[in-house]
Amino acid sequence: MAADQKSIEHPRLVTIETNGPVDANQLSFAGRLNKEGIVLDRTTIDTLQLNLGKLCNQACKHCHVDAGPTRTEIMTRESIDRVLTFLERSDIPLVDITGGAPEVNPNFRYLTTNIRSMGRKVMVRCNLTVLFEDGQEDLGEFYRDNQVELVCSLPCYLEENVDSQRGKGVFTKSIDALLKLNSIGYGRPDTGLLLHLVYNPVGATLPPPQAELETDYKKALKETYGIFFNQLYTITNMPISRFNEYLLRRGEHDLYTRILQENFNHTTIDHLMCRSLVSVDWEGNMYDCDFNQMLDMQLDVDGMKIWEVTPEWLSGKRVRVADHCYGCTAGAGSSCGGELV
Ligand code: SF4
Ligand code: SF4
Repeated sequence: MAADQKSIEHPRLVTIETNGPVDANQLSFAGRLNKEGIVLDRTTIDTLQLNLGKLCNQACKHCHVDAGPTRTEIMTRESIDRVLTFLERSDIPLVDITGGAPEVNPNFRYLTTNIRSMGRKVMVRCNLTVLFEDGQEDLGEFYRDNQVELVCSLPCYLEENVDSQRGKGVFTKSIDALLKLNSIGYGRPDTGLLLHLVYNPVGATLPPPQAELETDYKKALKETYGIFFNQLYTITNMPISRFNEYLLRRGEHDLYTRILQENFNHTTIDHLMCRSLVSVDWEGNMYDCDFNQMLDMQLDVDGMKIWEVTPEWLSGKRVRVADHCYGCTAGAGSSCGGELV
C-alpha cells in the first residue's frame, strides 16, 4: 500500500472550553434523569448484542473491553447453542456480534451461519486487522456469502493517529483490509454489502459532527487510497476501563467528566441504544449495553442467563444507569451506531 499522508488535512477536532475541575455538586446521571423527569425503560428489543469474549489480536489504548491477545475468556459452543435457541424463540431481527475480535472465537462462523439460516440480520464489529490473522484468509468472502453488515474501526484517516491509538502498523493493515473488502463488493454502490467505519476521538474531546467528518473521511480515503465505504459512525469514548486509565494518567479525568456533563442533551434520551437492545457477555449474562457489561452492571436479576428468560420478559425493564451514561447523552449523543440526534 502506498500512501502520501502530506496531501491529507488534519481531521476536524472539537475543543470545548471548561472552567476547571468537575464540580462536586454536579448531579449524578441518575439525579439528572430525576431532575428532568425521565424514566429510562427498555421499550422493545430490536438488537441482540453478543460479546463473544475478550480475546483480540490487538490491544488498543482506548479499548473499553480491556481485550487483547492473552485474554482467554470466550463464549463456548454450548453457550452459543443456548443463545441460538433463545433467538429462535424471539423475533429479534438483528444480531450485533462484538468482542474482542469476535472472528477469533472458533465458533464465530458456526454462530453466524446459524443466525443467517433463521433469516435474521448479522452485524459484525470488525477491527480490520483480523483479516490478516492465520486461518482468516477467506474471512471477507465468508462475510460476503452471509451478507454480513460490517462496522469497522478506523479512528482516523491519518496513520500516526491510528497507530498511536491502536498500535504500530495497524493503519497500514487496516487500509489493506478495506481495499480487500472493496474488491469483493463491500462499500460499493448497489451490492447491498454494507461497510461502515467507526471514528472515536484520540483524546479527551467529544467527536466532531458526524456528517461533516464523514465527508472528510470519504474524500481522504477515496483520493489517497481509492477506498469506499457506506457510513461513518462517530462514537464518544466512555470514561471506563482502558480509556479511563488513559485519562487518569494524563490528569484529564475531571476535564473529560465535566465536558460530558456540561453537554448533556435530553433529546438523545429517546434514542439511547439501551432502550431497544440487550447485551450478552461470553458467559450468557445480560446487560443494558456493552458499557454496562464492562462495568459488570448486570440486569437486576444477577446470575440469570439470556437462555433462562423470554424475549417478552426483557421489555419494559428499567435500565441501570451510572455516571458513564453521560457519554451517551453528551452533544449529539452516542451509540454503537454513531450519533443519536
Ligand atoms: S478496541 Fe477493538 S480491536 Fe482494539 S483491543 Fe479492543 S476489541 Fe480489540
Ligand atoms: S451507557 Fe449508554 S447505552 Fe448504556 S445504559 Fe448508559 S445510557 Fe444506556
